[in-house]
Amino acid sequence: MVVLNSFAVSADPPGGVPPPNIVLITLDTCRADRLGCYGFGLAATPAVDRLAAEGVRCADAVTSAPITLPAHASIFTGLLPPAHGVRDNGAYLLSDDATTLAEALKRTGYETAAFVSALVLNRRYGLAQGFDVYDDNLWSEDEPALFMIRDRPAPRTAARAVAWIETRARSAPPTPFFLWAHFFDPHQPYNAKVRSRHLLPTAYDAEIAQADEGVAAIVDSLERLGVFDATCVVVAADHGESLGEHGERTHGVFIYDATVRVPLIFRYPALLPRGRIFERPVHVFDIAPTLLAMAGGELPNAQGLNLLPALRGDSPLPERAQYSESLLSELGFGMAPLFGVRYRGHKYIRAPQPERYDLAKDGHERFNRYDADPALARELDYELDALVRDSEARALPVRANPLDEETSEALRALGYLAAPAARAETAGMDPKQGIALYNKLEAARHAAQRGDYSGCEGLAREVIAAAPRHVSARNVLGVALLRQNRWADAAQAYADSLAIEPNQARALHALGYARFREGKLEKAERCYRASLEQAPGAVESMIHLGFIEMQQGRPDAARQWYDKALVADPAFPRAHLASADLYYLQGDYSNALQSYERTLEALPDHFAALLQAGLCAMKLERYGDAKAFFTRAGELRPDSWMPPYNLACLSAVTGEADTALRQLGIALDKTDDKSQFARLAAADADLRSIRSRPELRDLLERATGGAR
Ligand SMILES: [Zn+2]
Repeated sequence: MVVLNSFAVSADPPGGVPPPNIVLITLDTCRADRLGCYGFGLAATPAVDRLAAEGVRCADAVTSAPITLPAHASIFTGLLPPAHGVRDNGAYLLSDDATTLAEALKRTGYETAAFVSALVLNRRYGLAQGFDVYDDNLWSEDEPALFMIRDRPAPRTAARAVAWIETRARSAPPTPFFLWAHFFDPHQPYNAKVRSRHLLPTAYDAEIAQADEGVAAIVDSLERLGVFDATCVVVAADHGESLGEHGERTHGVFIYDATVRVPLIFRYPALLPRGRIFERPVHVFDIAPTLLAMAGGELPNAQGLNLLPALRGDSPLPERAQYSESLLSELGFGMAPLFGVRYRGHKYIRAPQPERYDLAKDGHERFNRYDADPALARELDYELDALVRDSEARALPVRANPLDEETSEALRALGYLAAPAARAETAGMDPKQGIALYNKLEAARHAAQRGDYSGCEGLAREVIAAAPRHVSARNVLGVALLRQNRWADAAQAYADSLAIEPNQARALHALGYARFREGKLEKAERCYRASLEQAPGAVESMIHLGFIEMQQGRPDAARQWYDKALVADPAFPRAHLASADLYYLQGDYSNALQSYERTLEALPDHFAALLQAGLCAMKLERYGDAKAFFTRAGELRPDSWMPPYNLACLSAVTGEADTALRQLGIALDKTDDKSQFARLAAADADLRSIRSRPELRDLLERATGGAR
């Protein structure tokens, strides 16, 4: 039996050392064995290597799940997924009932700030608890490719973190601070632009090098401000990357060491030795209790341990099993979930075909030794069970079924909720068999990324034929059909997916969209509302509910949805845009302009927002601003007739008749539909001042084909 929490987290900072600043850096998708300090000779990771050389490097650290949100939830709560309840990205959020590292530090007087680099860690998923600042505004970053996650490169995230450190360093009196920086670079796609790229073996290593640049920027700022040694800097990863091992290209399905072993480094010279390699098994859920022991706070319910005495060499760690799980195969593909432990040199994975590896001899887990020693396997299974039971005893009150009765009824009425019997079909397929299907689905996604939607459709249908409960394949099929404007087919694909797994806020949103495009507003509305039931922060669904209200002539109700979206995510550009369009329709040009400007902060190249902002500025007689907006729009789309047309209107209104006529000529040359152009120009009140000019008449005749 493992006894967890065998020593309580100390409530006082040890040895009279004042509470340190704390900087926690999580490197997303970073394999321990691709860092220089973990023995990878070809790495370009000088900043992380330096922290290891000047602190304690844990050689045997494991994460709770090879998936970003569940792993980070463990880092912040000191709990395993069955306890904190977050089992996947997107569909789960950390309960408000959780006490996080940030909340506990905040209570002891810390200033707290987080800078995250990917949408999967947006505040809507619950990790913002306890942070004074939570910088998750990624809307001004490049639009991600289809199926890719919106993200921000480490140097840009680091610059924002450094700015925060510097601002608060200037403000007196000094209170300790807690900063969390999350760098997403090593996650797919691998497209980093680092100087050392030509020296690195793979594009993945270049991504790690780029994340290291972010670490360097933060370390430099701490040194510059003279607080480096008064700061405990921790570097960890949420999970690794398979890089093809066991047939898995990235991460998420399997729980082999390639994705569950992570780097973990602590540097804090006031309490920790320099250059120590700590060999005993540790877990990412130990991070929060350890940091709180330094800061004089506590996390009473944590499963993780305060590692400080062990890292210092004062006392040994008790023998513990290291837990990992992945429910992705179950939640996404309808296959068996995987649960595993590493214990006393063995790795055990509970699966339809269970596995046991001797890690000392077989570090890459190639030879399944399960059958060689059934008694040992039973012992490991028992350790796993003990951890699950301990987790369940501490489990946060997660909404077991986020669907309320009304939503369930609505879904049943639409035919989306399948009877439980229909769900058993492929349940229990071992992910080891399923990985080939997973890779085929990857190929389908790549086809869609290339714009080959029918290729994507074919591959997705092959996966579904082999595994009918493959929810992800049905959703990928849905995307391929949406992209081909096949609304009814797309609706069917999503309905099928939801019939298997109704707890999918994003699929509900997509189904709503397909219904919306079919003109079935009532059905669309039900889907969007159901999506919001499951994901209360689903801002996209809020905007679309607003669109439906607009279509039904209820602008005030639409406005409420847009406002609600902006409360959930104050920077969400689509909400600013929808809100701006509504102000414009209502003739409130001043508010409209403000909202277009907020849209343009995130999306400076948004053509429609630029044109509309120009029109608002014109109405407000801010002609210089109007000209700037139209000119910028013209630079963006030199082939479009609209910017020169609007510039012509602007010139006509400000009395520059010749310029107006010249711009109008340019606009006419660019337009395909010349007769529509002629109708518009003939009736346009903005052109009143040049109406009597013979050049305008010539132009209109040229447009209608009269003068040739
Ligand atoms: Zn991740």
